[in-house]
Amino acid sequence: MNNTFGIEIIPPNEAGRIDALRRYKIYNTPSEGAFDRVAKLAARIFKVPVSLISLVGAEEVFFKANVGMGTTRTTSRGVSLCSIAIVNEEVTVFENAPEEPCLLTNPNVAGSFGLKFYAGAPLISHDGFAIGTLCIIDKAPRIFSPEDRVILQGLAQIVMDEIELRRAALEETEKLQHINDQLKAKNKELEDTQVSLNTGLVRLSASEERLRDIFQDAPVAISILKGRELVIESANTWILAIWGLDESAIGRTMREALPELEGQPVLQLFDNVFTSGVPYYSSEFKSSLKGNHLLQEQFYNVVFQPIRNEAGEVHSIMLVAAEVSELVNTRREAQELNEELYAMNEEMTATNEELSSANEALAVAQSQLQELVDSLSVSDAKFRNMITEAPVAIGVLKGRELIIETANAKLLTIWGRTDAVLEMPLSKALPELKGQPFLQILDNVITTGEAYYNYEVPAILNHHGVLTTVYLDLLYQPLKNGSGLTDSILVVATDLTEQVKARKKAEQAEETLRIATESAELGTWSMDSITGEFTTSLRSGQILGRDPEMEIPFEAVIDQVRSDFQTFVREAVSTSMENGEAFNIEYPITDLREGKERWVRSVGKLIKSETGHGSYLTGVLADITEQKKDEQRKNDFIGMVSHELKTPLTSLNAYLQILQGVAQKSQDSFSLHALERASKQVSKMTVMINGFLNLSRLESGKIQIDKQRFDLASLIRDVEKETTEQISTHQLVFEPVETAFVVADPDKISQVVNNLISNAVKYSAPGSTVQIACLKDQDKVIVSVRDQGMGIRKEDLSSLFDRYHRVNNQQTQTIAGFGVGLYICSEIIQRHDGKIWVESEFGNGSAFYFSLAREA
Ligand code: ADP
Repeated sequence: MNNTFGIEIIPPNEAGRIDALRRYKIYNTPSEGAFDRVAKLAARIFKVPVSLISLVGAEEVFFKANVGMGTTRTTSRGVSLCSIAIVNEEVTVFENAPEEPCLLTNPNVAGSFGLKFYAGAPLISHDGFAIGTLCIIDKAPRIFSPEDRVILQGLAQIVMDEIELRRAALEETEKLQHINDQLKAKNKELEDTQVSLNTGLVRLSASEERLRDIFQDAPVAISILKGRELVIESANTWILAIWGLDESAIGRTMREALPELEGQPVLQLFDNVFTSGVPYYSSEFKSSLKGNHLLQEQFYNVVFQPIRNEAGEVHSIMLVAAEVSELVNTRREAQELNEELYAMNEEMTATNEELSSANEALAVAQSQLQELVDSLSVSDAKFRNMITEAPVAIGVLKGRELIIETANAKLLTIWGRTDAVLEMPLSKALPELKGQPFLQILDNVITTGEAYYNYEVPAILNHHGVLTTVYLDLLYQPLKNGSGLTDSILVVATDLTEQVKARKKAEQAEETLRIATESAELGTWSMDSITGEFTTSLRSGQILGRDPEMEIPFEAVIDQVRSDFQTFVREAVSTSMENGEAFNIEYPITDLREGKERWVRSVGKLIKSETGHGSYLTGVLADITEQKKDEQRKNDFIGMVSHELKTPLTSLNAYLQILQGVAQKSQDSFSLHALERASKQVSKMTVMINGFLNLSRLESGKIQIDKQRFDLASLIRDVEKETTEQISTHQLVFEPVETAFVVADPDKISQVVNNLISNAVKYSAPGSTVQIACLKDQDKVIVSVRDQGMGIRKEDLSSLFDRYHRVNNQQTQTIAGFGVGLYICSEIIQRHDGKIWVESEFGNGSAFYFSLAREA
C-alpha cells in the first residue's frame, strides 16, 4: 500500500477491524437501494457533487454507494481520504484541502480531480470498529459547521444501522436455507418412497388389470381451512370436485360455500380439532354433499390435520382425503414457496410451517397408500387363488406372443403339461398346436378384442408322448387394459372328452343296432306308457299292414290281434309295465293291408325315465309266419308218424307179452331176459311216441283236459307204487303226504309227476337219491321232485320249459331226449292255471316244482 499522506493511517485495532468488516459480508457486494438512498440524501442535504459510503479494507477502499464518482467501485487505501477518517472517532473535515500538509501529494487533491472539500463520518460497528465512512466531497472549498457534522454523523449512524440489519437478515436467510435444505432432503426421501411405491403399484397393475383400475380411481383430495370460521384458503381440483364447487369457493368460509354442511357433524369435528389440536382421522367418511352427483355416494379416508404457528397455536386445518398425484402437486407448490423464501424473509417462517404440515400430510397419505398397496396385494393373491381353485380349467395368456401368465391345475391337465410351462409362449409350450386353428383364433381375439366361444372343439394334445384328441367347450375372453386395448386373454375350457366319446359310442351302438334290425327284417316300435300311443318303424308298419311311422292308439293294435290271443297280449304288456321285466310273446294278427293272418313275435321292455314321466315301452316285432308254418308242418308230420308208429308198437308189445309167457313156461331164462329188455325198450319208445303225440295234440289244440276233484296224495302214492317197481337204479324217496284235494285231470298230472321223476333219474348218477314230496300251502298244494344230479346252469334256466329245448353240454350229449317233456309239463300245468318252476345249482342237483290250487 502506497500511503500518500505521510501520517499513520492504520489504526491500532486493524486486525479486529478487518474481522468486523468481514463479518458483515458487505465488502464487494452489488449496490443496494437502502444505501444508495442515504448517499443521495447526504449529497442533497449538503449540496455536494460527490457522496460515498466507503468500506475500508486492508488494501483498498470499496464504495458500497457512490453518488457523483461515475462507475468507480474501489480506490487504493493509501489514496482515499476515508483512510484518515476511520482513524478519527469524530467527523474528519478538510475545508480547503490544498492547504492541508498531509494532502499535498494526494492525487485526488493535487491531480485533475481537484478535490477541495472533504467531510467523512466513520461507520462504527456495535463493538467499536470503524469499518468505513459516509463522506461528502466538493471541488470547491467550503465551511462545515458543527451542525453539519452532527447531521453527517447521524446519517452515518443510519448507514451503520442498515448494515447491522442487513447482517441479521443474512444470518436468518442462512438459517432458513439450512432448514430448507433439510426439507428438500425430506422431500427427496418422500419422493423416493413414492417412486418405489409407485413401482410396486405399476408391477401389480401389470399383473392384474382390473386391480390397477381400482388403484387409478382411488381419489385423494386436499384443502387448507383457515381459522375457526374455516375459510377455504386453498383447495385442489379433487376436493373442489368432491364439493361440487369451482375455484371461486376459495376465500369463502365452509359454511358459505357448503351451506348443506350446517347441522352435519363435520363442522363440529373441525372445531374439535381446533380446540384439541389433535388430528382427526376417519376411514370410510361418507360425503353428504350436493356437489358432483358422481362422487356424492363415495367414501373417503380423511385426515383433519391441525397446522400450528410458531407459538404452537392451531391457526388452520389441513383436510386430506388422500390422492397421491395431488399431494405431489402440493409438494411442488411447497418447493416453489421455498424458492420465494430467498427473497421474502417475513413469509419464510409461515411457509416453512406449511411445508412441514404438507410433509406430515404427505406421510399420512403415504401410509394410506401403503395400506392400499397391501390390500391390493391381498386381493391380487385372492384373485390368483380363485383361478387356482376354480372348478373349471382357467388360464391367462399375455400379449400377442400368448405368454402363459397363469394356468390352473385343471388347464395344465388338459394340456398334459406341468407348471414348467408358465411364462412360456403358448406356441413353445404346446408345439403340437401348430397346424391346428387355436393360435390363429387367439391372435384374432387379441387383435379384434372380440370374445370367442365354441363347443365340443376337438384338440390334439401331446399327453406324455401320446397325441391325444380331447373335446373342449372353449371360451377366449379378451382382457382390456386401462386404455381399453386387449393385452391378454382369459382362457376357460371344459373337458368334454369322456361325454363326447360316450356319445359317439352310443351313436355307433345305435347304428349297429339299426343295421342289425334292418338285416334281420326286424321292426321296432314304442308305446307311451301314459297315453298308450303306439309308434312303429317302417318295417313294423309293413308287418302290421299299416302306414309306417304313424301314431296309432294301443287299442287299435290290440284289435289287430286274433281275438283268442287278445287277452294274452294285453296281459303280457301290462305285466311287463308293472314289474319292468321284458316280455317275449308270439301271437297271430291280421295284416290290415292284405287281410291275411300273420304270426308275429314281439319282444318289449319298459324304459323308465328318471322322473317317472315319459316312460315308454319299446321293442322289436318280427314276422314269424313262415317259421310258424314250418313248425306246423313239422308238428303235423310228427303227429302223423307217431300215430302211424303207435299201432305197430302196440302189436309189438302184445307179441312180446305172448313170447314172454311162452319163455316162462319153457323156463328159457335167456329168452326171458332178452324179452324183458326188449319190452323195456318198447315201453321207452311208447313213452316217447306218446310224448310226440301229446305234443302234436297240444299244438293242434286237440289235447283234452278232463278235470275232476281228487286227492293229490293218493295220486302220488299210486305213482310211488308204479315207479318203485320200474326204477331200480336210483333211491326213490317219497316223503309222507297229506290229503290235499284238487280239481284237475289226474292222468295229465300223473304224466307230469312221472316225467319229472324220469328226468331226475335220467340226469343224475345211478345210486343217487330222488326225493318226491307233496306239501300243502294255504290255498295251494306244491309237488316237488328233487335230485342230486348234474344241475342246470343259470343261463339255461329261463328257456328250460321251451319246446325242443335241450341243455347242450358234454354230459347231456350222451343222454337221449328231444326236449319236449318239460314243455308238455308246463303246458299241462298252465292249462290247470297252476305254476311250474325249477331251482337248481349247476353240479349240485335240481328241484322241480309245480303248484295247483287246493280245494277246501
Ligand atoms: P329231454 O327229452 O331232453 O329230457 P326235457 O324237456 O324233459 O327234454 O328236458 C329239457 C332239458 O332240461 C333236458 O335236455 C335237460 O338238459 C334238462 N333237464 C331236465 N330235467 C333235468 C334234471 N332233473 N336235471 C338236470 N337237467 C335236466
